[in-house]
Amino acid sequence: MVIPSIGAGRAGPVCMTILDTLDTPAERRRRGPRFGANFMAVLEVSRDLFCLCVGGKVVDINSAGLAMLGAEQADEVVGRAFCDRVGDDYAQVIDDLLNLIEIEESAIPTRLCRLNGETAEVELQIHPARELGESHAVVTARDISHQGRLARTARQSEDRFRVLVEKSMHLIAQCHGGRVVYINTAGRAMLGAWGVRHDMAVADMFHGEYREIFTADLSVLLSEPGMMPVRLAHSDGSAFDAQILVTPLPSSGAVPEFMIEARDISSHLRAVAALRHMNETLESQVAERTRELAEERSHALEAQAFVESLLEAVPNPLWWKGIDGLYRGYNRAFREMHAIGPADWIGRPMTETLDPVFVAVSAAADAQALTKDERVQFEGRLAMADGRNHDVVVSKIAWHSRDDRPEGVIGVMLDITERKQMEAELRRLATTDALTGIFNRRHFMATATIEAERARRHHRSLAGLMLDIDHFKRINDSFGHPVGDVAIKAMAAACTEAIRTVDTLGRLGGEEFAVILPDTELETALAVAERIRLAIGAIAIATDKGTVRFTTSIGVAQLSQENSSVESLLSRADAALYAAKNGGRNKVVAG
Ligand code: GH3
Ligand code: MG
Ligand code: MG
Repeated sequence: MVIPSIGAGRAGPVCMTILDTLDTPAERRRRGPRFGANFMAVLEVSRDLFCLCVGGKVVDINSAGLAMLGAEQADEVVGRAFCDRVGDDYAQVIDDLLNLIEIEESAIPTRLCRLNGETAEVELQIHPARELGESHAVVTARDISHQGRLARTARQSEDRFRVLVEKSMHLIAQCHGGRVVYINTAGRAMLGAWGVRHDMAVADMFHGEYREIFTADLSVLLSEPGMMPVRLAHSDGSAFDAQILVTPLPSSGAVPEFMIEARDISSHLRAVAALRHMNETLESQVAERTRELAEERSHALEAQAFVESLLEAVPNPLWWKGIDGLYRGYNRAFREMHAIGPADWIGRPMTETLDPVFVAVSAAADAQALTKDERVQFEGRLAMADGRNHDVVVSKIAWHSRDDRPEGVIGVMLDITERKQMEAELRRLATTDALTGIFNRRHFMATATIEAERARRHHRSLAGLMLDIDHFKRINDSFGHPVGDVAIKAMAAACTEAIRTVDTLGRLGGEEFAVILPDTELETALAVAERIRLAIGAIAIATDKGTVRFTTSIGVAQLSQENSSVESLLSRADAALYAAKNGGRNKVVAG
């Protein structure tokens, strides 16, 4: 008869001794049903409980057993039911085993109740010992309180890891060979209905080619070191991009145990793609804008070059100043006018460069152009680089920034010197007689009218003279018309010489002249006329036909308060002239 399994574990050699002892019929007879003293001495060395029970009651127990039960004396235990010392749950089972009603070969984890009320965790084994008699059983108990703590710690640690795994954001699957034996919550969510299947194949997690490859040869998956980008399959058949890591787990058998960790990177890839697309779009937009700007810039430069050429080509001096009044730029005509270089006046005020009279007028025009925002024009005289004063017309207007604020003044100048001279010449031609240079009839009459009006207004005297060369036709006839012209000019010169600057001399036509003498009484006028007559009489013109001499007749009249018109005055003087002619010529006659 063999007590099964008692030979296993640390108690093995000791139990063999028991069996040896028990198997000796002579000894059994000699020692009766109880362990012998020698045998107990042997059991005393064990730290496990050894106890012989008969009918469930303790009949013998070693010291380690007493200590384990918290008893000091054997009689505190001996004779009592062993199951009284066993935790509630197992008490009945243990009693059945002790009475050999049931046989349990493996160790039973339970608690022993110590006499002081404490409990000890033990692994209990009950070995039927029918060889010793009916209902005989040997009980061994090993205190596993210590191992229990380790087991609990391990369990707690495992629990913690399980929580970590369960709460992981990523799929974590434990695989046994080609089967998935565990998959965490995130994994189930990621795979959809696949994740709840108990018999799920590892390859089923994958999509398309990956599934085919791993179905055919799982070792391909296991041999991949590090992270691997794959496509996983959702239960609805759709695929998603993921990154997986396969980690081998310690495995006792030939079937490989491993863990698959997977991260859904489809949204990450989408974000990357969107970012790349955005970057590309942005890059192309930037490139497009850069090209546009370059084009705009080249257009702007072309436009600027064109405007500069245009300004240079303008024949009039042209310049522009800032709101601070300093020169910002000017064209070729301006540079030539002042004989300056392109940068000579830039940043300088006109007070440093132009004469003060012109500057005063020009500054006022600048201010008006800026404040009233209107074209301002003025005429002036300006000393130029040629050393002459030029008559100029300056036109000024404010220039504005893009937001329409006045930024300064643009000026353009027109040199009107020639025009002015031409005007003066025209005026002179319109007012003077071409042959003699004295006033012509029209201008004489206009001037005489003003003088007569003034005299009448101020009640001043005024006299008029009418002069006509005597027998002039003869001069023309005898010496030719050009000599007649010389005589006419000589007479004009003699008259001019004889009168004051306030007096007005005019050629009324042919060899007929008239003089207006302001502030002159008749007597004085007669004296002046006489002086003229003598002066003319003294003229001698040398010609190849001999010397030409001639006389003149003069009629004199005074402006009357009754009839103060020039026409009436000259009419009376003319009448006096007529009288002088009739009186023999070369005479002065008062009208
Ligand atoms: P009288 O003493 O009566 O004045 O005799 P006269 O010959 O001077 O007669 P009258 O004054 O009528 O003649 C003027 C002449 O002067 C007529 C014309 O041929 C001439 N004559 C008029 N204008 C010019 C001129 O610009 N140049 C010259 N050379 N002769 C002129
Ligand atoms: Mg005449
Ligand atoms: Mg005459």
